[in-house]
Amino acid sequence: MESYTQQMNFFGKTNPEELLAKYGSPLYVYNEDILRRQMRRVAGILVNHRFTSNFSIKTNSNLSILRMANEEGLNADAMSPGEIYVLKKAGFPSERIFYVPNNVSEEEMQYAIDEGVMLSVDSLSQLEMFGRLCPGGRLSVRLNPGVGAGHHEKVVTAGEKTKFGVAAQDIEKINDVAKKYDLHVVGLNQHIGSLFMDYQPYLDAVTNFLHYAEDFPELEFVDFGGGFGVPYHKLEGESEFDLEAFKKALDQLLTEWKNRTGRDLLFKMEPGRYTVAEGGVLLGCVHAVKENYGHKYVGTDIGMNVLIRPELYDSYHDVEIYRDGKPVLDGTKEIYSVVGNICETGDIVAKDRELPITQEGDVAVVLDAGAYGFSMSSNYNNRLRPAEVLIDHDGNDRLIRRRDTFEDLVRGFDI
Ligand SMILES: *Cc1c(COP(=O)(O)O)cnc(C)c1O
Repeated sequence: MESYTQQMNFFGKTNPEELLAKYGSPLYVYNEDILRRQMRRVAGILVNHRFTSNFSIKTNSNLSILRMANEEGLNADAMSPGEIYVLKKAGFPSERIFYVPNNVSEEEMQYAIDEGVMLSVDSLSQLEMFGRLCPGGRLSVRLNPGVGAGHHEKVVTAGEKTKFGVAAQDIEKINDVAKKYDLHVVGLNQHIGSLFMDYQPYLDAVTNFLHYAEDFPELEFVDFGGGFGVPYHKLEGESEFDLEAFKKALDQLLTEWKNRTGRDLLFKMEPGRYTVAEGGVLLGCVHAVKENYGHKYVGTDIGMNVLIRPELYDSYHDVEIYRDGKPVLDGTKEIYSVVGNICETGDIVAKDRELPITQEGDVAVVLDAGAYGFSMSSNYNNRLRPAEVLIDHDGNDRLIRRRDTFEDLVRGFDI
C-alpha cells in the first residue's frame, strides 16, 4: 500500500523529513509536474473556440509558479495593483493581464490604465469613475446576473446576497453610462463562486450570462470566471471535477450560441484553485501529542497564520503522517484533532481525524495546500511565514521563496 503523496511521487528524490531538515518547518512544497499538468488542462478547456485561461493569482503568487503559468501559455487575473506589479515581475505583458478589482480608488484605477492593463468595473459608480478618468476608453464590466455557486457562503461571489458585479436590474443602464463617456464595453465578465464539483450551475450561469452579452454590440470577449473544485476529500475516494464532461457540455453550449447569434467572441475563464491546489502540500512538525478531557490532539507548527482555510471557511484538508521519511500507513488508528501553535481556540488544521498513532517528531503532510495557502498566510503572533520549495521534473528540490526572518518582522519600523 502507498500513500497518496507516494503514488504521486510528490517529493521526488527527497522526503518530508529531509525537506524540513534542509529548509525549516513548516514548509510549503510544490510539485512541478502536477502544477504543469493542471496548467495544461486549464489552457485546453476550449479547443474549438478562441479561448484564454486566466490564472487567478490570488490563489498563489509565487514568482516561480507565475513564470511556469506564463510558460504554459496562461494569461492572468489580478485583483490589486500589487498583483499587477508582481505579474509584470514574472514576465507577463500588460495585454495578458486582466484586472478584476472591486471598489477601488481613482489612484488604483489610474495605475491599471497607466500600465495598459484591461480592467473590469464592478458597479455603475465605478463605471462612471472609469469614464471620468479615461473617456473614450475600452473596458469590461462585471455582471452579477443573480446566479451563484460555491462550497461555503463566503465564497459564493454572485447572486442576490453578494457585493459583486452589476445587478440584473442595472445592466441596461451600462450602455447609457458608457455612451455618456464614449466608453467601449469590449468585455463582460462574471465569477459565480468557488469550489463547485458539479458543473451544471456554472453552465446555467454561462447560458444566463450569454443572454446579456447579446445587448452589447462592441463586445470582443466574455469571461465566465473560475471556481472549478478539487477533491479535498481524496483520501476518502472523492472523485475529481469531471473536466472532460464539462468541456464537452460547454463546447456544445457555446457552439450553439455562436451559430444562433453569428458572433465570434473570445471566451475566457479564470480558474485559480483548480490550477494550483493539488500541486502544493504543507509540511509541519509534530511537537506534542496530548489528551484533554477525552480529546486527543496532535500539536504541530502549522498554525492558522500558515494555512487559514480551515478557520475561515471550515475547509477540509486531508492529512498524511510521515515518520523517518515514510508514510505511516498501518497499525491502530486514533481520532485526533491536528492543531497549530497560535493562541486561538480556532487554530485547528484538521478536526477529529482518523490518523495512525502519532508521535512527537512525526511530520504532518497537509494535502491540497497549493491554493489559498501561502497567499493567505500572515505573521499573526509574529510567526514567520514559511519557505516554499519546488520539486522539479527530475525530482530535485529547489527553494523558490525563503522563509521570513526575525528582521522581516520589524521591517517597516525603521522610520
Ligand atoms: C477568486 C477569483 C477567481 C478564482 O477562483 P477559484 O475558485 O480559485 O477558481 C476567479 N475570478 C475572480 C474574479 C475571483 O475573484
